[in-house]
Amino acid sequence: MLQKIMKKMVEDNILLICEDQALRREIELYIGKGSQSREVILTGEYGAGREFLKKCPRRCYSFFFYYGHKAWSMEKEGEILQLQKELLEKKDYKTAKIYNEYLIMVSRLNQHKAWLFYPKEIQLEHTNRCNARCIMCGHYHADKGKCRDLSEDTFQRIEPFLPFCQYVGLHGYGEPFLAEHILDYMEVYKKYQVRLYANSNLSYVPDKLLPYIDQLFDEINVSCESVQKADYERIRKGLHFERFVENVKKVREKCPHVRLNLFAVIMRQNLGQLAELVEFAAEYGFAKVSMTEMIAMEENGNYGDVPGLYPNLLSQELKKACKRAKQLKVELHFPKEAIREKEENLEQEQKRLHAQHGLGEEEELSVRHDTNLLFDRQRIAREAETESIHRCKGICDVFSSQLYCTLDGRLAVCCVDGYHYTEELKKASSIKEYWQAPSVQMIRDCFQKKKLPSICNNCNFIILDQLKYLDVLDRKTYLETVNRKEKQSE
Ligand code: SF4
Repeated sequence: MLQKIMKKMVEDNILLICEDQALRREIELYIGKGSQSREVILTGEYGAGREFLKKCPRRCYSFFFYYGHKAWSMEKEGEILQLQKELLEKKDYKTAKIYNEYLIMVSRLNQHKAWLFYPKEIQLEHTNRCNARCIMCGHYHADKGKCRDLSEDTFQRIEPFLPFCQYVGLHGYGEPFLAEHILDYMEVYKKYQVRLYANSNLSYVPDKLLPYIDQLFDEINVSCESVQKADYERIRKGLHFERFVENVKKVREKCPHVRLNLFAVIMRQNLGQLAELVEFAAEYGFAKVSMTEMIAMEENGNYGDVPGLYPNLLSQELKKACKRAKQLKVELHFPKEAIREKEENLEQEQKRLHAQHGLGEEEELSVRHDTNLLFDRQRIAREAETESIHRCKGICDVFSSQLYCTLDGRLAVCCVDGYHYTEELKKASSIKEYWQAPSVQMIRDCFQKKKLPSICNNCNFIILDQLKYLDVLDRKTYLETVNRKEKQSE
């Protein structure tokens, strides 16, 4: 149907993205009042508008959004701001979110200079407290005494973004369900019709939270690296395997529509257990399994745990996991480049693996190693963030549609780079001001100059090839550089 309408409208030089007959007639009458060619009129029909925008060529059309018996220009600042205000006054949050998503896509397509859209997705750190000290995480040596929960001021400042925002991710550097006032926040998310997701170790799931999870959550990414009790508890120090499994069962039972995804970091310590993780996921009704290679942290001194140091074993184990996933019909995501056509030197790698000390249990935990990693992001400065050696095309979808906000209101371009922030929430009085902040502008300039910003040098989204609007042109060199860095630091 949409194709037919589009064909007719192309002939008329105006595209009307609307299948609803009554609304179409209304808009067609409106168009009759005088319109120019090469115009596209979008409506609140989400699927149709989105599909059209995804396939639309760059800078070919001017866009309008039909709302309240009027076609609002999506190219003129005054009309965009006026419509945003109107949607808020009418408390029409459903349309506000659709309009905002279109505006993101239109701004990207027509390369708008001023960005006026809100992030489609906000990752808001509700707490940086965590009940574990996982061996691959910044919490391993963290001084837990410095950990805190989301401040009231930050939440109040982020609230005006929520009517336009579709998803909020509750996690940052902490375990989100530990956050104080979490139930109050849930009520606010419900009011603005925001859908939620979280990364969680599922070690703590209070019963009071379950109805909210059931109603508001789309998915939970559950972290788990081993289903062997001893190994699980050595990797995720401070947690108990049995409690974790109980919580998985509880969430599965009480929140049957919430998608559970199992997220596992591949490292030296669980290299031989990847297929078992797939089996566990199948047994407990996980929708998918995502495996990513561990990125070493200087603070943890764990360069020797990087799985890339055992490339043949890694390839072999991933193949086993893939085979099991196929048999059990589990969706499995993993770094495809790690698969080799043929494995060699397996025996040598096995020997090297066994020669390593155990699972990290020998090392004495000490906050003396705390480098303030979790608490001390630096504002992006010209020297720190500018162009890396890698070339790219397009603009990162995460950067242009998401925002990361720390519990004290520091805004960052994404969740990947934990060392920098771009602006403070209290200093950006409007979303336009945020996008115009010099450090945000610097990142935009990098992408425009086809240079990958250096903060993107260790990006898992790039490694897993998950970005739709950004191509790293020297991808092979990029991946080699990531691996080389790890080997050099070993
Ligand atoms: S680090 Fe990755 S997700 Fe973040 S802005 Fe760069 S490419 Fe995008």
